[in-house]
Amino acid sequence: ETILELQDVHQHFPGPGRQTVKAVNGVSLTVRKGETVGLVGESGSGKTTVGRTALRLYTPTSGQILFEGQDVSKVKGRKLSQILRRRSAMVFQNPSTSLNPFLKLEDVLTEPLTVHGIGNKDARRRAAADMLDRVGLGSEMGGRYPHELSGGQRQRVGIARALMLDPTLIVADEPTASLDVSVQAQVVNLLQDIQAERGLSYLFISHDLSLVRHLSHRIAVMYLGRIVETGTSDEVFDEPLHPYAASLASMQLSPENRILPSGDLPSPSNPPSGCPFHTRCAIARDTCAVNEPALTTVPSTTGGESRQVACHFPGELTLNSSAHRTTAP
Ligand code: SF4
Repeated sequence: ETILELQDVHQHFPGPGRQTVKAVNGVSLTVRKGETVGLVGESGSGKTTVGRTALRLYTPTSGQILFEGQDVSKVKGRKLSQILRRRSAMVFQNPSTSLNPFLKLEDVLTEPLTVHGIGNKDARRRAAADMLDRVGLGSEMGGRYPHELSGGQRQRVGIARALMLDPTLIVADEPTASLDVSVQAQVVNLLQDIQAERGLSYLFISHDLSLVRHLSHRIAVMYLGRIVETGTSDEVFDEPLHPYAASLASMQLSPENRILPSGDLPSPSNPPSGCPFHTRCAIARDTCAVNEPALTTVPSTTGGESRQVACHFPGELTLNSSAHRTTAP
């Protein structure tokens, strides 16, 4: 059962001067019930914009967004609220800025129920207390304010708020990036436990590759606004097909075995012709600068369902390709 489906979604923003920042360029992606899809890529790859567009914090420039089978690409107002806002939620990177500092935790949590007219005041308070218990904070914390909490506790409140409407999908955008490593593990365990209990789906956005690998059933690798590879976590991290995915996967290896793309990420307002990765790819050929490779379905390398890759020479640069390895840092 598919919960979220993006079909050829583009998200362009006005840039400096008369430029257009093409943050997302033709992304197609599915998230199924009970599944975690990890979205990885370096800063500026467009992964946060995909997450925000999927939940219609932005209206897509073009393309379709299907949520639980309904087209929510352009819906507004009451319909947007009833379908998407009611059934999905976002957990943000920085809980300090995503929580209203003037609201007690109890009010932070009852707010979504109030907005959607769910329950009376007593029922909402009971639901908030139960949720504080569920995320390990304790119901007695309801009278506290966000500034009285640690970073890890605030992120638990962020997760609790996201769960108040019993969503089927949560987009988690770097939810542990601002936390200490020991606290990160607790928050990750909480997310996993809740998924097991409720069967909800996650689109998990992170630059922390080991965390993404640990949490995700499938991975989508983004580069310059495009998805360049999809597959199971093991496929993408152990047998990457796209040279950029190989580069990301090699970050798990010792420094001397890493494959580093040359140069910096090009500007999304002026992407390279042909394959967008050709300016940094260790195995680029003449055709790569002219012909953009389509995201193509290829057989699974681990006996599972098919995977996808956008490269004219998939699998040529492997994690063992010492001939193509660039200088380690
Ligand atoms: Fe590299 Fe060419 Fe593949 Fe692009 S199409 S990733 S430049 S080999």
